[in-house]
Amino acid sequence: MGNQAPSLYHYSVETKGSVHVKMDTLTILLIGAVIVSAAFLFLKTRKNSSSTPQAQVYVLFGGPGSGKGTVAGRLVNEYNFHHISTGNMFRDNIKNQTELGKKVSELIQAGALVPDEITLAMVQDALVQALNNKKTAILLDGFPRTAQQTKALIDMIKNGSLKGVELKVIYMHVPSADMLLDRLTSRLTCSNPACQATYSIKTLTDEEKASMKCRACGGELKKRADDEVESIKKRIDTFTTTEKDITDIFDADKIVTYKLDATQSIPQVYDDFVAQVGLKK
Ligand SMILES: [Zn+2]
Repeated sequence: MGNQAPSLYHYSVETKGSVHVKMDTLTILLIGAVIVSAAFLFLKTRKNSSSTPQAQVYVLFGGPGSGKGTVAGRLVNEYNFHHISTGNMFRDNIKNQTELGKKVSELIQAGALVPDEITLAMVQDALVQALNNKKTAILLDGFPRTAQQTKALIDMIKNGSLKGVELKVIYMHVPSADMLLDRLTSRLTCSNPACQATYSIKTLTDEEKASMKCRACGGELKKRADDEVESIKKRIDTFTTTEKDITDIFDADKIVTYKLDATQSIPQVYDDFVAQVGLKK
């Protein structure tokens, strides 16, 4: 490298010397053409190399019991979506005793909510990492939960670190809180951590009620620890008080929203979404 610099310098001096020759029209045209095509090429490559131009982030938005978990699982398995779940991220951080995990665990033990700034930083990191790994279909699950988080997410995508990414919302709409309550109080979850399939006690056959075994893996069906009535009511209440604020922000910013009737069976809701978006395997 070191001995290349002088010869380059020498060359440029020589060229400079010959510029005194009066340029003819053809030379001017040629130089013009070179400049135009260089500018064109520059703009083209700049467009192609911008972070991930086709990346799409889908916000999975719906109340507890609206079927988000089941839909997320199928999108990951069948369409290779990259799943970013704030609940899983908090649990992983707590399990691995990271700085974030310690902080979050303290807050939860004190009965406090995790502040928006912490959640936001964590989600932003996960999104940037996914984009760097060339993930083009990303599912955001459990976020945003507040109006402030919603505005921050939109700002990241319009002006910040995620500029150029397409944001879409899958709104799993259930009009009545009673319906969510009914679903959650009758929900049974497979206790196999790799499966976690959910069932309604109302649709189990008599034999299944007797055996309490998962159809998919044979795991034991149980009520989830946080599916007790008081805890369920609190979670539904938290969701319904912020639901309209959040969807209003998405509407005002003209974020594409697929509003799905989540009172239907979950497989039907899933099929509706796949059809509306036009997902291809
Ligand atoms: Zn199972």
